Parts: sequence; C-alpha cells; structure tokens
Amino acid sequence: MNFRDLKEQYRVLKTDIDKAISNCLNEGQFILGSDVMALEQELADYVGVKHCISCANGTDALVLSIMNFSIGAGDAVFAPDFTYFATINCAMLRGATPVLVDIEKDTFNISPEALEKAIINTKKEGKLTPKAIITVDLFGLCADYPKIQAIAKKYNLLIIEDGAQGFGSSINGKKACSFADIGTTSFFPAKPLGCYGDGGAIFTNNDEWADNLRSIRMQGRSKEDKYDNRSIGINSRLDSLQAAVLRVKLKAFKDYELKAVNDVAKIYTDHLSSIVATPTIPDGFYSSWAQYTIRLKDRSQRDGLKEYLHSKGIPTMIYYPRGMHSQTAVVNSNCNSGFFPNTDEVVQTCLSLPMHPYLNPEDQNLVIDSIKEFIG
Ligand SMILES: *Cc1c(COP(=O)(O)O)cnc(C)c1O
Repeated sequence: MNFRDLKEQYRVLKTDIDKAISNCLNEGQFILGSDVMALEQELADYVGVKHCISCANGTDALVLSIMNFSIGAGDAVFAPDFTYFATINCAMLRGATPVLVDIEKDTFNISPEALEKAIINTKKEGKLTPKAIITVDLFGLCADYPKIQAIAKKYNLLIIEDGAQGFGSSINGKKACSFADIGTTSFFPAKPLGCYGDGGAIFTNNDEWADNLRSIRMQGRSKEDKYDNRSIGINSRLDSLQAAVLRVKLKAFKDYELKAVNDVAKIYTDHLSSIVATPTIPDGFYSSWAQYTIRLKDRSQRDGLKEYLHSKGIPTMIYYPRGMHSQTAVVNSNCNSGFFPNTDEVVQTCLSLPMHPYLNPEDQNLVIDSIKEFIG
C-alpha cells in the first residue's frame, strides 16, 4: 500500500501526460514556454484571483512574497507553530523574526485568539514592528480566514497565505490562495496538486505586486529591456515540462480527484470518529486533504498504532514530530518564545493515514479494520 500513490495516478493519466510532455519537447521552449503561460491563466481562473505568477517551488513563492513586501530585519511575522519549516524559513532568510503562535487542536491551524494575544504582546514589548501574518492551510484545510482577516484589519497587518497544502480547499466556495494579500502554493509531487519535480505559484489581485513578482522571479528584470535589471531578485521559474504535466493534472484534480479525496476522508471519518479523534472540518469549509491526520490518546498509543499498522504493511507518517519553537534554528536565533500547549500535545499524538484519490476500498478497509483491532 502507498501513503500517496503517484504511480497509480500516472497509470490513469499516462496517455495525456505523455502527449503533453512530447508536445512540450517538440515546441522546444523549456523555460516560461506556452504551457507556463496557459497554466498561470488556468490556475488564476481556478483560484478566482487576477494574477498567478509561477515559480520554482513553494518555498520560493513565500520568499518572493516576503521580498515583495520588503519585510526584513526588525519586522515581526506571525506564523503558526505547527507547520512545515518553509513557512517561517522565508521570513528568517530575509532577516525578519517569526513570532510563533499556538494552534487549535481540532483543525491543526493557527488559533485566532492566540494570534491576537501574540500581536498585542509584540506591540507591548516594542522591539519588533508587526508586519504580516503568514497563515497556513494545514493538511488541506483553510485557516479561519473570517477571524484572521478581522485581526489583520484591526492591527493593520498584511496576510500571506501559505497554501502549499491547501490548494483546492475552500470556505463557502471561496478558494484557498485567494484569502490573503498574497497566496502561495507548492507543486511538490505529494501536495494536493503536484508536478514531477519542484514547482510553485503565487496568487494576488494586486497589479503592482504581480508586476513586481514577475520581475523579481527573474533577477529583478525590467519589463522593457531584458538586459536591464531594475531591482534585486532571484532566479525562480517554473519549467515548461512541469507546467505541461500540471495542466493535465489540474484537469483531473478539478474533474474528480478533489471529490475522490473527500469521499475517502468521509469513509475514514464515518468509521473512525467514535474511536479516535478525527479531523474537524468547520461548517462551510471544504478540505483538499493533503493529509488525513488522526489524534490518539497519548504518545505511547500513537507510537504503538504506528508500529502495528507498519506490521500490517500500512504506511503512516508523523506530520509533524516537532513544533517550530523547538527547531534548532529557531532556538539558536532567540526568537520570541511563547506557550504552545496544543502543539506540544499534537506532536505526541498525531498520525497521518494513507490518503490520496486512488486509494482503493480494500486498502482503506484494511487501514480501518487494523485501527479498530489495535484500539480494541
Ligand atoms: C511543502 C510546503 C512548503 C514548501 O513547498 P516546496 O515546494 O517544498 O518548497 C511550504 N509550506 C508548507 C506548509 C508546505 O507543506
């Protein structure tokens, strides 16, 4: 059994993917070719924003967003403690200080109440200038944007939405990557929409920022003269081959994959919610299920279950085994520390189960039955 079955996906989409790759090879435009332009338009239309700017990976999408807002030394960036390191690495890389915020246990996302407290504390301390909130749509579920947008407005902060895991999810029909000043995503192969290597994208409705992002993804190049550079940028572009693959996969994602993962999630929840803590999806929210993560009673039950499932040939992952506040790079940089009781509990009790659109009923039943056997 596979944790995420990319081989099966390729088997199903092979004819179209092979054709798209071969077209791209025949066209011979390997960087920012016609597939990249077409994909950017398709992604912008799907997410429901004016501009999509593709780039080399999800981390660069965040770095470019931080650069666009000139966030750097002396600035505070608020981010959830429970996430993948890229969420705060982008800020630290540019010299800014992440202020970490505890999560809500049932959604795994940043706690709006803890966020507001962290902002108030940071202002009171007066050492850093609060600039932005980096929200994360963890495991495919949008953060609580109605509350977070109100907080951002109250304290005059920008929002950057790290939608690396949230592509395709929504709140009352409004799509992930459209909730913030700038939204970002990743096309790493195992993400909800993945390519066959690295890839990423940035979303915004702001014309000026979009123009700047297009420039700084190519060394700060001028629009009029490609050998004049108007600012300092990086080199972060999406390959045409990846765009060609993504266009085929985006179609499958829209046509049936997103629905398929929601069907898989419903079966897990129907069978498991009475014996373990299954993920909570608030009213009006729709997840893209980057992960299906359950919570166990304590660490020994979690580790025991992982071991037991492994013995049955069932792969599981611990997303994530530590919070950002215990990352060596964070500890060494003396970032503002706080209290993270929910992260501290979740890192000991979380377990992510096999989850992808091609999970077959026999395999899923084996996962469910094995968990029932173990918990008793
Ligand atoms: C994967 C991921 C990223 C980074 O994406 P890459 O394409 O691997 O650089 C950023 N944030 C989160 C939450 C992620 O899961």
